Amino acid sequence: MQNRWSTDAAEKLTGLDLLVYTTRLIGADPALVLWGGGNSSLKGVCADHTGRDVRVLWVKGSGSDMRTATPQNFTALRLDDLLPLQRREHMTDEDMVAYQIRCMLEPGQPNPSVETLLHAFIPAPHIYHTHADAICALLDVPDSRSVLQEAYGDRIGMVPYRRPGFALAKSVSQVVQEHGDIEALFLDKHGLVTWGESAEEAYMKTVHAVHKAEKFATTKKIQNGWTAPTQATGLPHHHHRDYAVRLALALRKAISTHERKVLTFDDSAEVLSFLNAPNAKEVAEVGPFTPDHMLHTKAKPLFVDLPQSIALDDIPAIVEKAVDTYRENYVEAFEQYKTPGLRMLDPYPRVILIPGIGMFISGKNRRACRIAHELYLHTMTVGLTCASIAHYTGLSSKDQFEFEYWPLELYKLTLLPPEKEMSRRIVLVTGAAGAIGQAIAEKLVAAGASVILTDVNAESLQRLSDGLNQKSGEHNTVAIPIDVSSESSVMEGFQRAILAYGGLDVVVSNAGIARAGAVEHLSLQDWQDSLSVNSTGHFLICREAMRTFRRQGMGGNIVVVSTKNVLAPGKDFGAYSASKAAQAQLARVLALEGGDYGVRVNMVNPDAVIEGSGLWSKEVREGRAAAYGISVDKLEHYYAMRNLLKTNITGQDVAEAVLFLASDRSSKTTGTMIAVDGGVREAFPR
Ligand code: ZN
Repeated sequence: MQNRWSTDAAEKLTGLDLLVYTTRLIGADPALVLWGGGNSSLKGVCADHTGRDVRVLWVKGSGSDMRTATPQNFTALRLDDLLPLQRREHMTDEDMVAYQIRCMLEPGQPNPSVETLLHAFIPAPHIYHTHADAICALLDVPDSRSVLQEAYGDRIGMVPYRRPGFALAKSVSQVVQEHGDIEALFLDKHGLVTWGESAEEAYMKTVHAVHKAEKFATTKKIQNGWTAPTQATGLPHHHHRDYAVRLALALRKAISTHERKVLTFDDSAEVLSFLNAPNAKEVAEVGPFTPDHMLHTKAKPLFVDLPQSIALDDIPAIVEKAVDTYRENYVEAFEQYKTPGLRMLDPYPRVILIPGIGMFISGKNRRACRIAHELYLHTMTVGLTCASIAHYTGLSSKDQFEFEYWPLELYKLTLLPPEKEMSRRIVLVTGAAGAIGQAIAEKLVAAGASVILTDVNAESLQRLSDGLNQKSGEHNTVAIPIDVSSESSVMEGFQRAILAYGGLDVVVSNAGIARAGAVEHLSLQDWQDSLSVNSTGHFLICREAMRTFRRQGMGGNIVVVSTKNVLAPGKDFGAYSASKAAQAQLARVLALEGGDYGVRVNMVNPDAVIEGSGLWSKEVREGRAAAYGISVDKLEHYYAMRNLLKTNITGQDVAEAVLFLASDRSSKTTGTMIAVDGGVREAFPR
């Protein structure tokens, strides 16, 4: 591991600031801790609310991340109130949490870590606890005590696995008291604790312990004649994609019985190599290398061995059976270990491993998938390293169950922000780089959807996607260039789109072009271009959407961005009005055909969204102005004045209606159109 200590940076810092600095150093290294794992503490003196100096333990609050730690993530507790607990024999989790809260110096600080007492009972001022990959690789083997002895000699301590809490803190305290000269303390099947008189000393002990573990594992691998698994030959690329798409749709349906899930897919060389290892299934069955990961990855992944020659159409049945078996096993374990009043969590897998194809990760949104994904990549490496040293061994299924259902761990879930309206929903938007498309995309992302942005303009599309992802701090959008008028582009684009988030719930068919001109002057090219985007484009997109919805078997929703012109055409706008009329009629037919499968199809009819719109090119503006006998700069005013509300229509106005139709708020509505035109009498629907 990398030693990140900077004397220049650290020497300017004291107290809590130094603790935050070191916490971030540790958090920045994914080989040490991941996603909320690990914690750190400092002992010192601080004035309480009366101004009296008291001895204090600053410890990381529950649920925060070491990587992004700030002083606000730490809680100060009265050390002299915590230490008498060392003399107690037993304490329940509830009593411990209640007691810790009474020791807090300042009300309103975060709930202190469940490992607070461990930090309190070790006398040193600076303490760091990590779940380092290299350390866990030595702990997750059958005879970890002798492996540790071989790697480190005698100047280390070890405590057997216990769930964090009072009992673990007591064991740690005993070992530290009995062996005052140990350099590091190992928590079996869990992680490492180091301490020191200075922050640097405690940090360097972590660095040395991890470094030694890494060297030891490398030597063992060589001694044991271990060879890295080679990458699977797998299926030819185009087939690989076909299989992955069908697997994604079948998986999403099978695991979404209670709540919808989003999936991410990884078929990188690293994943395929792991899946190709002869002991991959065995390693996968063991579960996480430190119990903390269980919250995100569950104890066990689903491993699906596909038969050598499997037809695409056989995939759903195989996936359904595999998921059923997983669920049955999960329910069985729950029934075996449950305590009165315990409610079963989601019984479906978070990690799905398919040799020759790749890994799917499921979650309520992209962020949940990303966390589980990262954790599982580390599990693969640690599992294989353990296997190269001896044999990968984790917690018993009872210990796994007790950790997964541990109220103090579940508490972390309650700290997460509430789910948004479009959370768990996957939406594809065409023409996303235009003014209306962009407003729709922004609205959907803000509502929590995972959004596939498509447009023929690849450059502005990517810019839009990057901007939205940066703003939300997550890959909630993906840019997939699609030319809606090309059958192959649409089909290829949908394949990529399905693999982006594992399925599809809503398609917003929005791409369109405008060509102005009286029919007698209209070129054949303008007429054909209009038809190919505004009619054929919607046909191709909606056809692929219907096929996807049918395969996925979870209903579906199509929102077509139509126009006021369908009901009230304007002169000199024949190509546009006629091609959009075909689109609207197609949408009505789709509503008729989709009803039996739970697919809703509705339209939004905007009028004259001029601001920022690519549709309103200079030619179109001039054409429309000429048609109404006004100057170009009066166009906005003209459109505003002709509607009942005397207002201009913006992309945001259209997006609002699209969101309504895309969401469950309109779940009983299909085959209709919503006008967003400020009120145009001749375009009243019906
Ligand atoms: Zn831990």
